[in-house]
Amino acid sequence: MLDKIDLGKAAKVAEKIDLNVLMDFVLNMDPKMMQMLMSQMGGGKSNGANGKTKELPLPNLDFYNVAEFLTPEQQAIQMKVRKFMEDEINPIANEYWAKDEFPHQILPKVADLGLIGLAYKGYGCLGQTTLLEGICAMEMARVDSSFATFFGVHGGLAMGSIYFCGSEEQKQKWLPPMQRMEKIGCFGLTEPEVGSGTAGGMNTTCRREGDTWILNGKKKWIGNGTFADVAVIWAREESTGNVKGFLVEKDTPGFSSKKIEGKIALRIVQNAILKLENVKVHEENRLQEANTFADTAKVLRMTRAGVAWMAVGCALGAYENSLKYSQKRKQFGKAIGNFQLVQNLLVQMYSNITACQTLCTRLSQMQDAGVMKDEHASMAKAFCTLRMRETVGWARELFGGNGILLDHNVGRFVADAEAIYSYEGTREMNTLIVGRAITGFSAFV
Ligand SMILES: Cc1cc2nc3c(=O)[nH]c(=O)nc-3n(C[C@H](O)[C@H](O)[C@H](O)COP(=O)(O)OP(=O)(O)OC[C@H]3O[C@@H](n4cnc5c(N)ncnc54)[C@H](O)[C@@H]3O)c2cc1C
Repeated sequence: MLDKIDLGKAAKVAEKIDLNVLMDFVLNMDPKMMQMLMSQMGGGKSNGANGKTKELPLPNLDFYNVAEFLTPEQQAIQMKVRKFMEDEINPIANEYWAKDEFPHQILPKVADLGLIGLAYKGYGCLGQTTLLEGICAMEMARVDSSFATFFGVHGGLAMGSIYFCGSEEQKQKWLPPMQRMEKIGCFGLTEPEVGSGTAGGMNTTCRREGDTWILNGKKKWIGNGTFADVAVIWAREESTGNVKGFLVEKDTPGFSSKKIEGKIALRIVQNAILKLENVKVHEENRLQEANTFADTAKVLRMTRAGVAWMAVGCALGAYENSLKYSQKRKQFGKAIGNFQLVQNLLVQMYSNITACQTLCTRLSQMQDAGVMKDEHASMAKAFCTLRMRETVGWARELFGGNGILLDHNVGRFVADAEAIYSYEGTREMNTLIVGRAITGFSAFV
């Protein structure tokens, strides 16, 4: 303490106050009070209550070690995704979110990762487990939910529609270039007037004339819709009322897209309204195995499981940022992580994340074993997105005012969580799917 005193300044102070009395007071000061004083003067380096600087634990992103269920090769893929997200996406995420733009320049690097359609077998895809795919979705959303959504729309919804509902010929034609990202896909199910009720109330129609289908209608909220090369369009057949799927190429006459402006969530994802005015699609571009909405549901079951994992990632990113902040942000002379109420927030966040991580792990294991049903995926989607919404709220709370700034990332997680909560079936819709399974009664209408 004494060696830090500037004697010249002290002499000036001594002209005004009795330095001996002051020094006597300081030297007999209670250590805790001394620590607080030092810290408020900017001279303290302590992050603990005892005044000593110590090494603090780094965030553990996998508390119950679910990565143990991955092989070393799969763990290496997880780390590759983590590194890519930290090196390539993290530095640009806030900028593109603020600009409401998609970073197209990143696509060749995404293609080089080679992870599109990770769990599909054949067609240039790696044929990995859905557990690994889910964990990769978590890793992406941990840094940026918009990027994870882009990946999920292209690789999950668009490629999945072809993988699950296309003929062998269609898979051979579309999946390899989509896997290499030479062709980008989008998925058009929701409409301006019909969202939750698409199964029975879709307004977009199709009718067959010889070998050609005529499509009319509008689709809303279509991710990647402004630039996708191919759109999977779901339409109700005029004569039978059955839902069919079509591959509509970007430049088809009568097909147009318009960006949805003014979003407050997932701003990097480019959502569009797609318009179909007497669009002619050849029979060879009708998804040959999509004959009713039950076939569409096969795709949604898979992607809902993926969104549950994304919710874990979004919550994890918010928690991780909060924990680091709690270790360095000081109030009342201490890092705020010292306070019991702040620890309570952190532990509640971490418990939510750990519960959802383990739930999703089991879900993916069931999916890999071929026994996952709609209600399993729906429960995970509804539960994990609800817990995510709660968790990012607590994260923002822990940041105080800084929580609403993009700079601290948490604000972006809070905003993005709102979209994840509602897409791929709202909490209510997914709850009704589980409710129907457990009671035997359908309560949708
Ligand atoms: C950012 C973003 C990206 C999206 N990307 C795509 C995409 O790529 N492709 C695509 O096809 N769609 C996409 N969607 C659409 C999304 O799937 C829908 O928003 C969602 O299904 C809900 O439909 P809706 O918004 O029309 O809400 P609505 O269906 O109008 O629902 C409004 C509210 O009413 C509730 N509700 C409705 N019916 C019932 C009922 N029977 N019982 C109780 N509550 C009910 C809902 O739960 C909700 O809370 C996206 C949406 C967003 C926000």
